[in-house]
Amino acid sequence: MPEELRNFINGRWVASATTQYLEVCNPATSEVLARVPLSLPSELDEAAKAAAKAQIEWRQTPAAQRIQYLFKLKMLLEEHFDALARQITLENGKVLDDARGEMRRAIENVETACGIPMMMMGDFSEDIARGIDEYMIRQPVGVVATIAPFNFPGMIPFWYLPYAIATGNTIIIKPSERTPLTMQKVFGLFEQIGIPAGVVNLVHGGPEVVNAILDHPMIQGVTFVGSTQVARHIYSRASLHGKRVQAQGGAKNPLIILPDADPEMTTNIVTDSVFGNAGQRCLASANIITIGEAHRLFREPLAEVASKRVVGFGLEPGVQMGPVITPQSKERIEGLIQKGVDEGARVLVEGRDALIKGYENGNFLRPTILDNVLPGTTVATTEIFGPVMCMMHVNTIEEAIELINSNKYGNQACVFTSSGAAARKFRYEAQAGNIGINIGVAAPMAFFPFSGWKESFFGTLHGQGNHAVEFFTQTKVVVERWPKEWSRQF
Ligand code: NAD
Repeated sequence: MPEELRNFINGRWVASATTQYLEVCNPATSEVLARVPLSLPSELDEAAKAAAKAQIEWRQTPAAQRIQYLFKLKMLLEEHFDALARQITLENGKVLDDARGEMRRAIENVETACGIPMMMMGDFSEDIARGIDEYMIRQPVGVVATIAPFNFPGMIPFWYLPYAIATGNTIIIKPSERTPLTMQKVFGLFEQIGIPAGVVNLVHGGPEVVNAILDHPMIQGVTFVGSTQVARHIYSRASLHGKRVQAQGGAKNPLIILPDADPEMTTNIVTDSVFGNAGQRCLASANIITIGEAHRLFREPLAEVASKRVVGFGLEPGVQMGPVITPQSKERIEGLIQKGVDEGARVLVEGRDALIKGYENGNFLRPTILDNVLPGTTVATTEIFGPVMCMMHVNTIEEAIELINSNKYGNQACVFTSSGAAARKFRYEAQAGNIGINIGVAAPMAFFPFSGWKESFFGTLHGQGNHAVEFFTQTKVVVERWPKEWSRQF
């Protein structure tokens, strides 16, 4: 019988009272790994109350002491690094090296948040009028919650959690119900570092528990990462209740190749960007736009590298691409490929009906390349979230940028060229929050914000670095006068 996951509330593991559970499956084998409870709103309420109670004492704990828990957590994350990466591969399907990369970025965020004592310092102006001083201090917002997607079960909660707690907030994490096991393991580590009860809480569940977060009067801040449709819902419902909220949404990332791009580097990096994590990355490039001669120069090499990609179970050595998350997801992706064909695109590399020996029950696709995809068609504008490259062709960089800027999303845009002038123009004009110049996945380091524009982001401040510090603190401005004999106006 697979393990039934429990919630971590107020420093204790507690079984949910729900009768509704979902199966968490290994997408490479369909083996049931665990059963995740769809927790009840009353259980979220318990977590919110525990977090609110703990916050009173936690807020008064000096920042320099609060980060001692992060130092301990960092050591434990290093110690359990491989076990956590393997857990990600088992529940998400991505290959082990990608899972390691994900945990590395999670740890970088813990390291960066250890700088909070300086990062949350305020400002001071003496004598703004004679004998009067003014200063700004940063105080925690209170209880916050993070709602995570399935595709980075280890990293995404860490865009927020270390900053939230180091700045004196307490937090509730709601992982994706499809990949809840990695956070389950991470919370086992929280138990070991002896962080006070109620500072970090884990509540499993689906939309019902998410809505309970959005409506809960004790929760002051919400962060979300997931699809645009849900991001919009999160943003509007949480805002309606006066919460501060940031919601990262979906993407359809363009990447342009100029004829002067380095042939080998470009071919390898572009295929990695499109097919890494089986295309289930919010920074996966999806629309590959060749300019002029680049079409002739890059089409065949890209097809060759894509068709050689080794597909299989992510824990096996040499495998470069794992399965997609669910059978439904695979079916949806195959449907979209067919839609592309119906809309007039040509299948340059066929990835449907992939059967992997020994893994016949897995949700596998091989890389697919659709050539001559027309702007405005369904495949050109829909986030496929699978290993599908849509190739499009234009004649000039101006046309390419216009095409990019007509995209409703704005998560990432990349350019491959050896021309500094072209790269600068692109950086200047492309409407996206993360820009790659000869980089295929422009994922910001922990000390930069993870940006995102247009329908890829709802809010103002992003996760990671200083943005996270600002998001998790509220400013208080104090104007101060002390009537004393030396302050002569009194
Ligand atoms: P999703 O929107 O289906 O789910 C995300 C979270 O929202 C989950 O925790 C889920 O329980 C909850 N949820 C789902 N439906 C809900 C509803 N109707 N009401 C309330 N809550 C609901 O996303 P996913 O499939 O887990 O993740 C993939 C998506 O996330 C893609 O669109 C991808 O582009 C996006 N993503 C974006 C970024 C970014 O930084 N912009 C990063 C990673 C993933």
